Amino acid sequence: MRRENVAKSSGGCAGKRIWAALWKLKIPNKVKVFAWRACNDILPTKMNLVNRRIIADAACPICTRFPETTVHVLWDCDADQDVWAGSLKLLQRGKHGLLDMFQLMEYLMEQLAWEDLELMVVQAWLIWTQWNRVIHGGRFHDPGWLNKRAMEYLEDYQAIQNQFDVDQVQQPSRDSWKPLPSSVYKLNFDVAVFFGLDRTRFGAVVRNDKGEVMAAMLAKGPPVFCSEEAEFLACRKAIEFATDVGFSEFIVEGDNSSVMQAISSPNKDESLMGNVVGDIQQMLRGLYWVNVEFT
Ligand SMILES: [Zn+2]
Repeated sequence: MRRENVAKSSGGCAGKRIWAALWKLKIPNKVKVFAWRACNDILPTKMNLVNRRIIADAACPICTRFPETTVHVLWDCDADQDVWAGSLKLLQRGKHGLLDMFQLMEYLMEQLAWEDLELMVVQAWLIWTQWNRVIHGGRFHDPGWLNKRAMEYLEDYQAIQNQFDVDQVQQPSRDSWKPLPSSVYKLNFDVAVFFGLDRTRFGAVVRNDKGEVMAAMLAKGPPVFCSEEAEFLACRKAIEFATDVGFSEFIVEGDNSSVMQAISSPNKDESLMGNVVGDIQQMLRGLYWVNVEFT
């Protein structure tokens, strides 16, 4: 069963098929969400930032020869070739010139077995993390390190999964497509502002449908200009937290009407908080299922 070709056991239209396959992979939810965002082309690549008129130049900062699109960052750039060269055979002689990650994933799903696709997605995720570090002045690890890290990461994750035997409970069967979450989680967030606006604290809690706390966070926030800014920042922090700890379907519940309206709007936010709202909207689009509720 594990060696089975991915495409064979995932029917339906392309987008649904890709998500169904991603969802069945034995990888952390945050990596699945990353892959889904990559396929939907909503990662903040230079090309996407140019399209959103945030920057003017889309050139790849590593090879400088092509625009920095998602498929370029994760697959086509010279900087990736050494990574893929040291990876699975099929990825070594991988197809290039594909239009986007969506096409690439479709192609790889045709070719790869489940565990190979798992490894490829983790490698792509590590490339993305490293890419962002390099752009901000960090250094490239050698490709051998990245591939070794991907394997160790996957082994560790899967060992823990097997140890707790959560597979049957939390992971949907590899044979069925599950369009809606089986349990509805609710994310609430809160903010406290101290000493004028000098100090803020953010809190977030995820509860299941029985009201039991599944995860909670308390974090120091930066100084803010007004309490509304603090609300927006707390909301972003809470969604980041929920995604990081592995929730990819939940209801975001909040009592600040301008925050809740802004984040659930399909339009670009033109206010001073536009950047933060943009981040939040992008994270929400990357989730498997989400609903925003004003209380
Ligand atoms: Zn490049």
